[in-house]
Amino acid sequence: MATYTPMIMQYLKVKAEYQDAFLFFRLGDFYEMFFEDAIKASQELEITLTSRDGGSTERIPMCGVPYHSAPNYIEQLIEKGFKVAICEQTEDPKQAKGVVKREVVQLITPGTVMDGKGLHDKENNYIASISLFNDHTAGLAYSDLSTGETKVTQLAATFDDLVNELATIGAKEVVIHTEFDEDLKKKMCERTGVTVSYENETELSVKFSSLMDDLKQDKLQTTVCRLLNYLFKTQKRSLDHLQKVETYQVQQFMKIDYYSKRNLELTETIRAKGKKGSLLWLLDETMTAMGARMLKRWIDRPLIDLGEIEKRHSMVALLQERFFEREDIRELLKEVYDLERLAGRVAFGNVNARDLIQLRKSLAQIPLLKNIISELGQDIADEIMEAIDPCDELTNMLEDSLHEQPPLSIKEGNIIKDGYNGELDEFRDASRNGKTWIAQLEREERERTGIRSLKVGYNRIFGYYIEVTKANLGSLEEGRYERKQTLTNAERFITPELKEKEALILQADEKSIELEYELFLKIRETVKDYIPRLQKLARIVSEIDVLQCFATVSEKRHYVKPAFNRERRIMIKDGRHPVVEKVMDAQEYVPNDCYMDPEREILLITGPNMSGKSTYMRQLALTAILAQIGCYVPAKEADLPIFDQVFTRIGAADDLISGQSTFMVEMLEAKNAITNATQDSLILFDEIGRGTSTYDGMALAQAIIEYIHEKIKAKTLFSTHYHELTILEQELANVKNIHVSAMEHNGSLVFLHKIKEGAADKSYGIHVAQLAELPENLISRANEILSRLEQKKGQAGDVSVTPPQASPAFKEIKEEQPSQLSFFQEQKSEKDNASNLNKKERKLLEELKSFDILEMNPLQAMNALYDLQKKLKK
Ligand code: ADP
Repeated sequence: MATYTPMIMQYLKVKAEYQDAFLFFRLGDFYEMFFEDAIKASQELEITLTSRDGGSTERIPMCGVPYHSAPNYIEQLIEKGFKVAICEQTEDPKQAKGVVKREVVQLITPGTVMDGKGLHDKENNYIASISLFNDHTAGLAYSDLSTGETKVTQLAATFDDLVNELATIGAKEVVIHTEFDEDLKKKMCERTGVTVSYENETELSVKFSSLMDDLKQDKLQTTVCRLLNYLFKTQKRSLDHLQKVETYQVQQFMKIDYYSKRNLELTETIRAKGKKGSLLWLLDETMTAMGARMLKRWIDRPLIDLGEIEKRHSMVALLQERFFEREDIRELLKEVYDLERLAGRVAFGNVNARDLIQLRKSLAQIPLLKNIISELGQDIADEIMEAIDPCDELTNMLEDSLHEQPPLSIKEGNIIKDGYNGELDEFRDASRNGKTWIAQLEREERERTGIRSLKVGYNRIFGYYIEVTKANLGSLEEGRYERKQTLTNAERFITPELKEKEALILQADEKSIELEYELFLKIRETVKDYIPRLQKLARIVSEIDVLQCFATVSEKRHYVKPAFNRERRIMIKDGRHPVVEKVMDAQEYVPNDCYMDPEREILLITGPNMSGKSTYMRQLALTAILAQIGCYVPAKEADLPIFDQVFTRIGAADDLISGQSTFMVEMLEAKNAITNATQDSLILFDEIGRGTSTYDGMALAQAIIEYIHEKIKAKTLFSTHYHELTILEQELANVKNIHVSAMEHNGSLVFLHKIKEGAADKSYGIHVAQLAELPENLISRANEILSRLEQKKGQAGDVSVTPPQASPAFKEIKEEQPSQLSFFQEQKSEKDNASNLNKKERKLLEELKSFDILEMNPLQAMNALYDLQKKLKK
């Protein structure tokens, strides 16, 4: 057994309670880490690993960071998803007997940061908790510690539902029971990258029970308590800003699952994972950080209640019409500080006088804001106006008490205005009078001695003094002055009178600084009482900000107010993709109509690659989402149903995190859509079935279309390069073909990006290959094969099903190509073993031999093959 020094023993004892965190152990001016923590931290933070004698036979690994630069290192660790326990000295080392007492004063985790880089102005920082119940449901609660918001809901305890919700809120950390389902936990972490923490206590101290006043269900209470207990235990300080817990139901909002959110790039792009290029980026014309956070929340949860949607639209309409008022509102909002986070920091006890000045300036805007809104003169605006509580008394109190430009420190005075506190005024008078007396003294002494260069000065060691140059010393009256300090060419003196005044001045200064500090703390306490009102005000100001943002964007980008119908009809005239349109020049963007109704439920989109199929599909989804968050939409006219859910399978966004194959993800997304969609949903399937062999893919695609057509009846856009699927229009009543037009011009392809009725007549694959600059001889070889195939079949478009014949120019490529004919080849290999077949099989095989696949439409061929297979199995 190793024996350690008492200090290391103390370290180990504390560390045992914080196994999953880096323990920052305060030693003088440093936070030190030891053992494993030191090794890991030195790697993560790129700081030097040293060692120290810890009493045992071996030296102990150690590394440390200076106290003053610790926040920076802590941020780095939190960003990486780690936790940091701050262990401080809790007694004066001079008074300590033995080892200085130390205690963890706060545990900082990814979900509980209150400042620094980890906390983005325009994003909430959520920490969630999950409880699994016996009835296969789960409770999910989440809080943003920086704003005090807490919400809770009940979900099905499935991986999909939980992950969707965690991803929607973007939780950084999740608190669970130590006995939580291991498998679920593992998958959840893999998918969302959350940091996991544990808390088993689900009873809440009475002091906080009022937070749950509005919460009826006991089950959900346990989920909330798990979260709150974790927050209290880790933060170890007042959390008076926590707001009453609100319940919500995911069914109250349009459901957009995790995959679809990503695919549609609502709040971040798939590739760069940044905001730029996302719908959020396009929309963000908010003027405040709180508004930006609310905008993101609204995009994450579009509404489905027509009344609520229309309320937002009416306000956007009003603000759009009233340009001048809107501009005034924007100007005012510029001056409004982050009230919501400020309220949190007030509760945490770390605001200074400058923060409160910001608060005062922000509050000063509120009556003006209220005024402009009332000038809009409509019921909808009046409702908002009524809800604005300007907190006048608070504004006045801050106005009367605080200096305009206080220092950063709250312990050096110069914070409180004259006239705010009688006692403070007296101290200040004493000090000022004393200083006037001293200025007067300088004048009198010069007259008395006749020395014009005599001056009265002050320094910290000797206090006030009279300074006379050496040359003038002779003019001083003997015995009146007491020598204090000798300089090279001057002497400094004091007099009893001067010392007496000095004591008064210094005492007054000291007392006034002390008093100012006390007064400031009192003011801060008073502000604390206003936290709930400030939070309410923050909410309404954020809402106004988002609504003005919608009006601004809608005007700038020529969006229109959508109408809604209950006939499950989509009618969009000249619709545009909001982001693509912004990125390219607006004039270049080709607008497109979209019409769908119960007789036109599924649109099958064909057209060359790169012609704009997926842009068209996304355009519809984004238009629906914009409409349901309360914004106008990019079109000349739009009449829409209210969608309950949006599902997408777009592009080849490989799911790298979970290591699943593209095709598997494709199928998972398809499953998710067809098991959850209703007739009020919107499904976008882009090239589904592409990730497998031709027949496989085509068969799946057709079966999926049939399934949606028969069973779900959801509005579906289905783009495909399987030209063969277009015959489904003839077989399924509510399937219609549309295509994106393209034109051949001088042997190359011109994309028109225009959607037209009917199927595309060519696949244009070779032209796209040409655009991609594949080798010249490869392209001409492909053209050769194509024309031979066309001759053979007397029709175009079936390139993909026929293996090319080898030629020197093509050979290498052909050999590297994976087989596209798995099904067909299976049959062929059986044919090779013809001798082992029985009579019935041989007969069927004869039948098979008589097929000429090339003469058949691939769907017919496929059906024939499946028939054969069935017969074989009988
Ligand atoms: P596809 O899905 O058919 O392969 P995309 O939808 O990805 O094609 O579109 C390819 C490119 O064409 C887009 O990146 C965009 O630049 C351009 N594009 C698409 N639709 C339009 C349009 N309506 N107007 C102008 N350009 C468009």
